[in-house]
Amino acid sequence: AKFVYDFTEGNRDLKDLLGGKGANLAEMTNLGLPVPPGFTITTEACKVYLESGTEPAALRAEVSQHLDALEQKMGKKLGQADDPLLVSVRSGAKFSMPGMMDTVLNIGLSDASVSGLAAQAGDERFAWDSYRRLIQMFGKTVLGVDGELFEEALEEAKRAKGVRVDVELDAADLQNLVAHFKDVVAKETGRDFPQDPREQMDLAIRAVFDSWNTDRAKLYRRQERIPGDLGTAVNVCSMVFGNLGPDSGTGVAFTRDPASGQQGVYGDYLQNAQGEDVVAGIRNTVPLADLENIDKASYDQLMQIMETLETHYKDLCDIEFTIERGKLWMLQTRVGKRTAGAAFRIATQLVDQGLIDEAEALQRVNGAQLAQLMFPRFDLGAKSEMIGRGIAASPGAAVGKAVFDSYTAVKWSRSGEKVILIRRETNPDDLNGMIAAEGILTSRGGKTSHAAVVARGMGKTCVCGAEELEVDTKSRRMTTQDGTVIEEGDVVSIDGSTGKVYAGEVPVVPSPVVEYFEGRMHAGADDADELVKAVHRIMAYADRVRRLRVRANADNAEDAARARRFGAQGIGLCRTEHMFLGERREMVERLILADTDADKAALEELLPLQKADFIELFESMDGLPVTVRLLDPPLHEFLPDITDLSVRVALAEARHEKHENDLRLLQAVHKLHEQNPMLGLRGVRLGLVIPGLFAMQVRAIAEAAAERKNAKGDPRAEIMIPLVGTVQELEIVREEAEQVIAEVEKTHGVELKLTLGTMIELPRAALTAGQIAESADFFSFGTNDLTQTVWGFSRDDVEASFFTAYLEKGIFGVSPFETIDKDGVGSLVRNAAAAGRATRPDLKLGVCGEHGGDPESVHFFHEVGLDYVSCSPFRIPVARLEAGRAAA
Ligand code: PEP
Ligand code: MG
Repeated sequence: AKFVYDFTEGNRDLKDLLGGKGANLAEMTNLGLPVPPGFTITTEACKVYLESGTEPAALRAEVSQHLDALEQKMGKKLGQADDPLLVSVRSGAKFSMPGMMDTVLNIGLSDASVSGLAAQAGDERFAWDSYRRLIQMFGKTVLGVDGELFEEALEEAKRAKGVRVDVELDAADLQNLVAHFKDVVAKETGRDFPQDPREQMDLAIRAVFDSWNTDRAKLYRRQERIPGDLGTAVNVCSMVFGNLGPDSGTGVAFTRDPASGQQGVYGDYLQNAQGEDVVAGIRNTVPLADLENIDKASYDQLMQIMETLETHYKDLCDIEFTIERGKLWMLQTRVGKRTAGAAFRIATQLVDQGLIDEAEALQRVNGAQLAQLMFPRFDLGAKSEMIGRGIAASPGAAVGKAVFDSYTAVKWSRSGEKVILIRRETNPDDLNGMIAAEGILTSRGGKTSHAAVVARGMGKTCVCGAEELEVDTKSRRMTTQDGTVIEEGDVVSIDGSTGKVYAGEVPVVPSPVVEYFEGRMHAGADDADELVKAVHRIMAYADRVRRLRVRANADNAEDAARARRFGAQGIGLCRTEHMFLGERREMVERLILADTDADKAALEELLPLQKADFIELFESMDGLPVTVRLLDPPLHEFLPDITDLSVRVALAEARHEKHENDLRLLQAVHKLHEQNPMLGLRGVRLGLVIPGLFAMQVRAIAEAAAERKNAKGDPRAEIMIPLVGTVQELEIVREEAEQVIAEVEKTHGVELKLTLGTMIELPRAALTAGQIAESADFFSFGTNDLTQTVWGFSRDDVEASFFTAYLEKGIFGVSPFETIDKDGVGSLVRNAAAAGRATRPDLKLGVCGEHGGDPESVHFFHEVGLDYVSCSPFRIPVARLEAGRAAA
């Protein structure tokens, strides 16, 4: 294998081999741009070194050969005493790992060549400063000396001279500092700073290889999901100097504004300085536009080069450059990072310029960026007082008065107050309070806690698990770690995108993108916001190409209507248990607690309420499919808390008060109490044990559909059975349901064409999908429960308990409740989809777990051939966009 490539030999498609930096340096070299000559040692060489502990045998000779060529080109030898060639040795992996790996500049300087450099540059100070920088960087990164020791020596030199900044040290001071630095190296490493330039270079190359495996690099890769065996390339590049006087300097530039996407001159320049000085913020930079006055020729050349790069890369590029005594050099370029808004604008601008097509434009943006643009944000310029931080559970910026119970939340919001509902954790009883609140803050629970899931569903801002905040709901106050007390009525601000919690009001700016989706702002208007125009166009591209349909998880007409405005093509999950919260909860409680079918009354009361719900829902989704899931309440969410109830009974007993009802309830609750309610009596199991329950719901659906039909509507109901593990369960429910439907069809004189399907949310269901498909018209993958049961992770608990540790250890980069675990849960989905279709080729397939609105997961569902994804209304645009990106 060839281990070394001259910059003239590579190109930008060789990132695997040459790393991002090396590949782009080669590309620029071949474009004829002024890149200082050099060569790149491949990632293959690094891999051999990492596997075997030594450099590949051929490497040394290849490096010598390329070094010879470089010396010839430059007309001087590495470290040559009277006129030294100096080089930089820089890391550069395939994927950018900013600041994770090593770089050493000024390789080739030594006691022998420092005066030669001084003579050539005509600058003593410059030469000694370069030498001390080499010893400092080399000492720290190659020899492993504690960097503090150099910093201290530098500080000491300044103190001794009574100056504040480095540039005030003169040549003699720096010469002394070099001697001091060399002492540090000798003392710390037991050897002298190497004077042989080639030895310096070889050691630096090895250090760059080694830096692939530092702890921080490994951690970064695990978190970013960068494979650990790629290795880094090493770029050896002849040095050019921006610190040779006022006609020299260094800068960064962008081919357009990375904040807005606007074309123009963007960047910073620092006269008489080297790259690290800019990063270190030692002196203030000037705007790039000022370079025109400082050095017009270089400025004009730079503008020309930027245009060349943008046309060539067909994208925004960022650039690092240096001017050495009036000569411009390009040190780096890459496709640049940008804000979410700029990404959309740049993508459409490039289409207009004819540089990219629509399919490519879709690849230039992503759902995470769109989601970011959809949430109102705090005005970051405003001053604010942060009092704590939790998990960013549902994005947005919310401001309101602190309230500590749902009753107060509802009461205050009715009288026009904006409130933030603060709880230790929430449960279904808090639903009204959550609806009334601007945002929800809890001190316990993770990203799938009740508060988080419900808030995301409502598109409501939520910060959960802010453990450093002590919430005392009894005395209606919250105490911060430093003892600040927030009382009921005090204003707080919460940022669901960052998890930050503030005391007082932080000003909020609304999202024009949501105004647009809501139909309150039009992309067509001449004066329409540029961002809105760009989003509108990109969404149109996505809708044109996507294969996946996008539905909403919605339980009421209001959510359904919003979902439709946002582009939903139906409802993929209506959780009927959500229709039984608040005042209706008691009816369900009675139903569950009824011994036999004695309590038919509760069912009969529920029927008209359910039917009215469905009529509204079918009306708001007229002409589009609505999947109604039959009741699936884990019992613990519906029954009174066993502890509270016991206390109530005990108190009543002690006070000799009447308590027969509570006692009866307590006995029943005891009987039904479960250790693992999530694995208990819920879903289809409940339907099979409580006579008449599912029949009532099916009747409500069928009658609602019949009434809509008779009112000339176009209802398209689909009935879905939750938590099925075996086809037998489904068969029993189907038989009963078909009877009810036939009856309703007869009495109403209509044909309903209702379909009946199941959720696939248990491993057994996935594993026997072929059998289950015999009795199902459709599958909807419930990836929340499927993740819970495949991993054995309690979805309500684990994110708050040990997931932080798992994320820190890099066991996964993101919670499997957020992004589908492709290898485990995903492979069940893939196989079940195939098995289901083998039984029934026209089986409709969808997903309605939280993953349905997650960008990476949407791509997976596209790939395994599902027909649709279903997600909360606010995530519909994101799902549409990602479905488009997956298909483009
Ligand atoms: C699921 O389990 O993925 C699902 C959608 O159902 P629920 O979240 O209501 O359990
Ligand atoms: Mg479920």
